[in-house]
Amino acid sequence: MQLDPQLYKFYGDSIRISVKPREFLYIELRYGEYQKKFIDAWRDGKLKTGEITINEMKIIVPFKKDVDLLNPSEWIAIDINESNVTAVSSNPHILRVESDLRTTHTTYFNVIRGVQKLRKYKSKTAERLLRKYSSRRKCRAMDECHKISRKIVDFAKQHNFGIVMENLRSIRKHINYGKNLNRRLHSWNFRKLQFYIDYKAKLEGLPVIYVNPKGTSSLCPMCGGKLAPNRYGLMKCKCGFKEDRDVTACLNMLRMREAPLPQRATYEALAEVERIVIKS
Ligand SMILES: [Zn+2]
Repeated sequence: MQLDPQLYKFYGDSIRISVKPREFLYIELRYGEYQKKFIDAWRDGKLKTGEITINEMKIIVPFKKDVDLLNPSEWIAIDINESNVTAVSSNPHILRVESDLRTTHTTYFNVIRGVQKLRKYKSKTAERLLRKYSSRRKCRAMDECHKISRKIVDFAKQHNFGIVMENLRSIRKHINYGKNLNRRLHSWNFRKLQFYIDYKAKLEGLPVIYVNPKGTSSLCPMCGGKLAPNRYGLMKCKCGFKEDRDVTACLNMLRMREAPLPQRATYEALAEVERIVIKS
């Protein structure tokens, strides 16, 4: 069921729905600290609400905010992969957020697979455990994605960077390890992470753009030449460029954006740029 914003209102801890003139239906809401912030901002008039959706389990309330997007002169590109999120800006800064996302998913993947084996015996306990672990996994991963995206957006905000990310549809194609690992990686919340970064950035007035990631990890961001990994796993080019895959991907994204790139001299100094590593 979908309802127009004029038909409902937050009312204490409930949502009040107009059924008929002067006749209301109250639905008690259960929400966490995170959701509370939005409701409070709505009460203060800082946010508007859109059309809500009600199903048998949930009420989904979209909040809207009008923001003036910056017109930044510097951009930061964000590369999301299995164990960390790397961000490189055009001036340049290198930020790396290491996360527990991988551990979380590997752990629950194994637990859930164990339970699925039990399920062959059609036990009620197995069903219950499966639901429990699936939802716990989802919560942990979402929580982690919120933390990572917050860190990235705070950093971008601090420097007034616009944000560049890979068009996600192609990210999944990059991931092609055997069947088991594949499933594990696919269940990762790449999409969530990008979505969180996207809306958190826009709420701060930072524009977000997407580029096609074709060649981001195989071509030299400086001369466009073909890169080859050296024995330390760094991507090397004939022109002298040498960087790890994540930073290389970010630099290529900046190049595609046609954002002012660090000058060659700065590139050479990239090795000396302090790498800010934070835990999510
Ligand atoms: Zn090169």
